Amino acid sequence: MAVGRLASVSRYRLQPTPTEEAALLEHCAHARLVWNLAVEQHAHWRPGRLSAPGFAEQCRQLTEARAEFAWLRAGSVIVQQQALKDFAQAMANYFIGTHRRPTWRKRGRSEGFRIVAVQADDVHRLSRNVGEVKIPKVGWVRFRWSRDVPEGVKSYRVTRDRAGRWHVAFAAIPEPIPAPGTGGVVGVDRGVAVSVALSTGELSHAPRLLEAEETQLRRLLRKLARAKPGSNRRTSVKHKIAKVKARERDRRKDWVEKTSTDLARRFDVIAVEDLKIRNMTRSTRGTLAEPGRNVRAKSGLNRSILAAGWGQLVERLEHKAPGRLVKVSAAYTSQRCSACGIVDAKARESQAAFACRSCSYAGNADVNAARNIKLAAGHAVSAREGPRVAEPVHREPQPVLLSV
Ligand SMILES: [Zn+2]
Repeated sequence: MAVGRLASVSRYRLQPTPTEEAALLEHCAHARLVWNLAVEQHAHWRPGRLSAPGFAEQCRQLTEARAEFAWLRAGSVIVQQQALKDFAQAMANYFIGTHRRPTWRKRGRSEGFRIVAVQADDVHRLSRNVGEVKIPKVGWVRFRWSRDVPEGVKSYRVTRDRAGRWHVAFAAIPEPIPAPGTGGVVGVDRGVAVSVALSTGELSHAPRLLEAEETQLRRLLRKLARAKPGSNRRTSVKHKIAKVKARERDRRKDWVEKTSTDLARRFDVIAVEDLKIRNMTRSTRGTLAEPGRNVRAKSGLNRSILAAGWGQLVERLEHKAPGRLVKVSAAYTSQRCSACGIVDAKARESQAAFACRSCSYAGNADVNAARNIKLAAGHAVSAREGPRVAEPVHREPQPVLLSV
């Protein structure tokens, strides 16, 4: 599960008593049941059809089911609702392209549930190596305090692996950052040549492994291929590979934190392209209307890494700038000139350069796309009852965007 993947990886060994374990298994069973019902509802859905029930509708159905069935009512509503939320996130990850479509959960495999709205005194340290966590309808359950629990824990996930070991993973969600109140809007595009392009013209690259580390990783992968299954050598090589990958993950996380904080501090409204829509309208090869914008970014090993970085950034913006993140359906963002509004498939000189043949605007292609996203957000905001921020949203004279 990718839910809460950004929150610190603080995982601890949970040590339930047999009675507590029975109650935990009950929570797992409820979470699995609700998840599987959601999978079933979405099983027949395909892009282009009327949508399957969304999170809100599924929650309403859950309330009805709880009213009807006492055994479901006896369980924790948080556990059941969060299973639906996990499913909604899994579907979102599927749309973004970082994960496969969510499937059935089987008993005894990937069992778990999530608890939200955790209070500060729901987690205690009892002694040097022992902590306890309050689990709804279960009570205080002990865990091994193998390192400090992060500040500001808002949720946690309890899991049981196939060997029957229980873990608890705490997730700390950052506090929202206050809007600057300047009315500033920024468009953010996941670039082809860069990780992120802003409508201000700024470009930012998510850090990658150094060349030496890449070499080391390739060497380790070759070693792994030669190591005998089950051997000590194989375990040790696997451990080394995990360490290199963790280093890259940490760097990317760091970049995501810094970039999202920076955006939330500087702008009142942050506009990104709605990837759900993007994924339906663009394939890897591209459509007739928009051929192959993502071809390079989407091929090769880096595809999922880039996609994951982008998904994490959007997730963090949702946390840090709640209500200020606008997802727009921006068709033709890469071919439309952000200065004069004309759509010109030949304006892309290369992956990185955009040159309008009508008004002679020229610039970075990803920045041009980000500017279009900003323009589309202006329309989205003014189409509501008014701007969502205290200050009026500054609007430039804009070309009318085609609604597709
Ligand atoms: Zn132009």
